[in-house]
Amino acid sequence: MEYDNIPGPDGVEIRLPRTDDYRTCSECGGDCSPDPDAGGDGIGARIAFVCPVHGVNAIVDPFEDLR
Ligand SMILES: [Zn+2]
Repeated sequence: MEYDNIPGPDGVEIRLPRTDDYRTCSECGGDCSPDPDAGGDGIGARIAFVCPVHGVNAIVDPFEDLR
């Protein structure tokens, strides 16, 4: 799988799968914004993709393999 790197908190790069599925709102098909702060564990390991209209669409965990 290919990945995109995006800047995360504390200067850490975060890898994301290079696919649009996780960031396309299932309700309106709109582009969701990545929100590292909404992931929940406070270290930026999970990233929520948030539709401005419909809220959280998906939560991506780039380090799932490492847990
Ligand atoms: Zn939406």
